[in-house]
Amino acid sequence: MSPEEFRRHGKQVVDWIADYLAGLESQPVMSQVKPGEIRRALPPEPPEHGEPFEAVLTDLGRILLPGITHWQHPSFFAYFPSNASGPAVLGDLISSGLGVQGMLWVTSPACTELETVVVDWLAGLLDLPARFRTDAAGGGVIQDSASSACLIALLAALHRAGGGQVAAEGVTRRYTMYVSSQTHSSLEKAARIAGLGTAGVRVVDVDPDTLAMDPGHLRALLDEDAAAGVVPVMVCATVGTTSTTAVDPVAALGAVCRERGIWLHVDAAYAGVAAICPELRWLNDGVAEYADSYSTNPHKWLLTNFDCTVLWVGERAPLLGALSIQPEFLRNAATSTGSVVDYRDWQVPLGRRFRALKLWSVIRWYGAEGLRAHIRDGVRLAQDLASWISADPGFEVWEPHPLGLVCFRPLWPGLPAAEADHATMRLMELLNASGSMYMTHTKVAGRVLLRMAIGGVATQRRHVEQAWEHIRWEHAALSASLPG
Ligand code: PLP
Repeated sequence: MSPEEFRRHGKQVVDWIADYLAGLESQPVMSQVKPGEIRRALPPEPPEHGEPFEAVLTDLGRILLPGITHWQHPSFFAYFPSNASGPAVLGDLISSGLGVQGMLWVTSPACTELETVVVDWLAGLLDLPARFRTDAAGGGVIQDSASSACLIALLAALHRAGGGQVAAEGVTRRYTMYVSSQTHSSLEKAARIAGLGTAGVRVVDVDPDTLAMDPGHLRALLDEDAAAGVVPVMVCATVGTTSTTAVDPVAALGAVCRERGIWLHVDAAYAGVAAICPELRWLNDGVAEYADSYSTNPHKWLLTNFDCTVLWVGERAPLLGALSIQPEFLRNAATSTGSVVDYRDWQVPLGRRFRALKLWSVIRWYGAEGLRAHIRDGVRLAQDLASWISADPGFEVWEPHPLGLVCFRPLWPGLPAAEADHATMRLMELLNASGSMYMTHTKVAGRVLLRMAIGGVATQRRHVEQAWEHIRWEHAALSASLPG
């Protein structure tokens, strides 16, 4: 494709995306295709001869679009938001156009230095501690996902706990990591990858009301493990759990970690970016004093398209000790001076995309006040929704709901718990199959809760109102159809 052909088709693609976004409301939020339907519609063999780009666009609309669940639809309330704003998409397009491999400073100095600047900017916007800045002993880095960020934190923690020997000797002792039943499943995956195994994952109790990790039980488990000769590596506290946005008591957990020299990672994948608003800075309580590492996902709620997780460490030495390798083919003068950052040493893969461009575009387009306004809109709408739910005798809202996620339960008077849960799931399936909205569920203490995560780029009050009306209507219809 020549630059002139690229220009022509590039304009078609940008038009296609703009039309797509403008027309999203007329699409069913959740794809309604059956398994295998898209695959069957595609040719089993690749073309022998090149085709015009228009043919790709035609098939995109004709074949693929029905199989797309529209994450940017204003009535998408499932999982967590996955914001893809205009400036982020454009920043990503530039990154693709430059086609830069930013593995080393020397392979594109701007790729590294812009990343250093934007992660430092973001640390400032979120009021994270100064030691997380690159000019201090720590620093930030963009990872593909929170799962990777937690794995990297664990590898750095393991390096420190093993006295720097793990990289050479492997996992030769019994090491443990501490999580709760509410911690994201990626931590268990990280333990498996790092060689701790699931046996090395200890599950700390949570408070049954708030679902926050219990520091007393953490202490008890640590005592038990110390007596068994196990080496504690890391505690992962979550600020904003996936299920209900519960917040672990970082300061109290951090005090236990400090006492015993254990690495504290704070996984704030969804909620962390909300600390951009001063009134939500309580989300950072304990981070400045105790966190060895901290991660949050601009690719969820901060208007930046997937993938963009930022991981900060208070000290970069253990991270580099765990991951830095110097093969001959990567040696270069800048690296040998020790005066540049090579982000390949801060992640699992060698190659890396120029992700900082999209975060830079987002921060510059919206400015800090625009970013704050986006978070505040999501929180306000969620609080309104929670107030409507709690005012309705047919429903029960889960407390607390401090951010953009509202969990709730429809009531089914007279139905035993298992049947009530079944009816709740049926209600959700009916709503999702209608195409007018998309929500997901979770389980707390064995009982089903519905989750509405608000914070889409295009979500407005009317979308939340319509969703709530639809939920009430469908609940009334389903209740009327139930026996008794
Ligand atoms: N941690 C928490 C608290 C999350 O909520 C999630 C995803 O929802 C993750 C980690 C994993 O995120 P990612 O998809 O970026 O790996």
